[in-house]
Amino acid sequence: MAEERPNLLGLSRDKMKALFSELGEKPFRAQQIMQWLHQRGELELNAMTDISKSLRGQLEQSVDIRLPKIVADYPSDDGSHKWVIEVASGSRVEMVFIPEGGRGTLCVSSQAGCSLDCSFCATGKQGFNSNLTVAEIVGQVWLARQQLGGFEQGAERKVSNVVMMGMGEPLLNFEAVMDAVNIMMDDWAYGLSKRKVTISTSGVVPAIRRMKEFTDASLAVSLHAPNDALRSSIMPINKRYPIGELLDAVTDYMAGLQDKRMPVIEYTLIKGINDHRQHARELAQVLASFPCKINLIPFNPFSLSDYQRPSDSVIGNFREILQRAGFTVTVRTTRADDIGAACGQLVGDVEDQTRRQQRHLKRAQQGGVNANSEKERRTEILASTANLATTADRF
Ligand code: SF4
Repeated sequence: MAEERPNLLGLSRDKMKALFSELGEKPFRAQQIMQWLHQRGELELNAMTDISKSLRGQLEQSVDIRLPKIVADYPSDDGSHKWVIEVASGSRVEMVFIPEGGRGTLCVSSQAGCSLDCSFCATGKQGFNSNLTVAEIVGQVWLARQQLGGFEQGAERKVSNVVMMGMGEPLLNFEAVMDAVNIMMDDWAYGLSKRKVTISTSGVVPAIRRMKEFTDASLAVSLHAPNDALRSSIMPINKRYPIGELLDAVTDYMAGLQDKRMPVIEYTLIKGINDHRQHARELAQVLASFPCKINLIPFNPFSLSDYQRPSDSVIGNFREILQRAGFTVTVRTTRADDIGAACGQLVGDVEDQTRRQQRHLKRAQQGGVNANSEKERRTEILASTANLATTADRF
């Protein structure tokens, strides 16, 4: 089988320099090419006019410049934007842009599907399809920038933050994600601040412990429950890496950063599952000696789940308990409802990809998953949760 040619879009500064040294060229060529690709949005070698003709010819023979492909485009009424993207494996992933003033946050995917099967996640219902390459992850930033007009002369930089919070568990695609975030933060490429590039993990502890050797990007932790019993029932990964180990690993990573930064704790509020007052109090206790910000995410319903969003008053009270305990708490506003804001939702609607999704669908059609099995599962969760408040204690 012919060896695959390197894709220039996915080469970090070090790898780009190594390529040019192999070609007998000076390292500054790497800087020129990265700026053409990532800052000017130029993908044609022939248009890179400060590169000699002979080097361009040499590159034509030895490298590729390949982007993933946008296959669906969903602008939302509220200014958010969601795209479905096809990667080389034929799988589809999503990226979402959420504007804030003149700038905004791009949420990118790291895997097509996900193997971790968190019970509240539309992506988890699709099973795992493939890891994205570095170029397919960075390519999302390139595409968003292009779609938002960011490569035009004098255009302001609209994508100011990137979160690896789209489809997939980033730290299960470790090498590619490390290179991708480093390209996003590289001054020769997108030059994003390390405070504004965030890897969000469900808690792959050994990978968190390795991260400091490769990057100093920011970190968010998908916690979603204040104790191991409840967390294990909605996030199977917790059985392997429980909350204590996870918070220890994150503490060590943050301590190794040169500047003072706090991780973000992500907590999806699901009606009747993890939204009790007692859960908020327990969360405050668990995080008492863990400096962090807390982001509450009201659950966004999707067709393969019967979980529901809590009422605004439940969300407000949960927030207040945490704030009274001294935490900085944000509540993610529901954006892009009209385009399927829960990650994995759109792709799931566009294409049924794996047996897991087919199994979920089959059970749903038999009246199982939505009506009965998920209710049984919720009852089990409620029963297995230690120190759970009684129903009367709900808001
Ligand atoms: S929440 Fe994240 S880790 Fe869990 S199934 Fe979804 S994509 Fe995977």
